[in-house]
Amino acid sequence: MLKKEIFISSIIILVIALFSSYFYIKNNNNSTKELKVFNMNNKEKIFSYISNTEDYIPKYREMYEQINYHNEENYNKEINVLLNLNYTPLEINNIYDFIKRNNIKKLLTAEKLDLTNYYNITNFEVDKINRYEEYVNLHNCSLDEAVLKVNIGLDHDFYTQIESIQNNNDYTILVNKYHSLGDYEPSDLKSLSYDKKYQLREKARDAFEELVSSAKLENVFIRPYSAYRSYKYQQSLYNTYVNRDGEKNADTYSARPGHSEHQTGLAVDVWSEGYNELLNNDAIWLKENSYKYGFIIRYTKENENITGYIEEPWHLRYLGIDIATDVYEKNLTYDEYYDLYIK
Ligand SMILES: [Zn+2]
Repeated sequence: MLKKEIFISSIIILVIALFSSYFYIKNNNNSTKELKVFNMNNKEKIFSYISNTEDYIPKYREMYEQINYHNEENYNKEINVLLNLNYTPLEINNIYDFIKRNNIKKLLTAEKLDLTNYYNITNFEVDKINRYEEYVNLHNCSLDEAVLKVNIGLDHDFYTQIESIQNNNDYTILVNKYHSLGDYEPSDLKSLSYDKKYQLREKARDAFEELVSSAKLENVFIRPYSAYRSYKYQQSLYNTYVNRDGEKNADTYSARPGHSEHQTGLAVDVWSEGYNELLNNDAIWLKENSYKYGFIIRYTKENENITGYIEEPWHLRYLGIDIATDVYEKNLTYDEYYDLYIK
């Protein structure tokens, strides 16, 4: 009996000892840990963090108590700039929850903006807000649509406000009437194994050869009729069309030099074997299967007003299988896709 009581008491003492040491370690840890690690889900207020720093501005005390802490470089200083610009604590919380870093940087040097309608539009850019609002008024469309169209450049005429492309060698490169390649020339052009006069960049070449041989197995016989084209070649081609049809018409089907996807070495035009055109059945096969090999049909009927080109079911653009599949599934032009997911 006695033995049993001693045993139970020992167990109780042991349990108490374990608990006390656990709480001692826990509390001790908390009090010695001066730099807390915060994260986006942690709703610690900035006040507890800023109050002991040189960034503390006493008149904002009440505001600090409502602003959530975010673990960002220069966060204290940015909060103060936004408070000086008259942003409310709620607006500041939304800004850091929803708005991209490069946009927050722009907010710091602009006048106060009402961002209520933009928190859920991930691709909006602070310096284009006036253009978005003008576009909504002019076209009576949603703000999401206006943001996308303006970002592409569509609130200005084609071939105006042209930007030169910086990431020339990326396979995801966007070339259109607002983005120019200059006289860029790819460094990894390879000839097609069965026809040396057609060149594409290496990955695009391999993917295209795979597409052609897989198509054959399904009785679709296609061949290239135009692949890589240099700046100079595009220039002479475009000039020929302008002389024949006038600039306005030529612009609907031929790119100005520097603006052709063919200059990237990632685009190829195809015809049906034995014909000087792409047969309808073959066009349908390409539309439904090209993405499996990494290509998209770049210029479609329903998107003529976005691309600025009439429908070209024969023009394939290489993007790699993952992106081509995503573009296909989302049913977007590459101009839209680039703004939403790549940029
Ligand atoms: Zn083409």
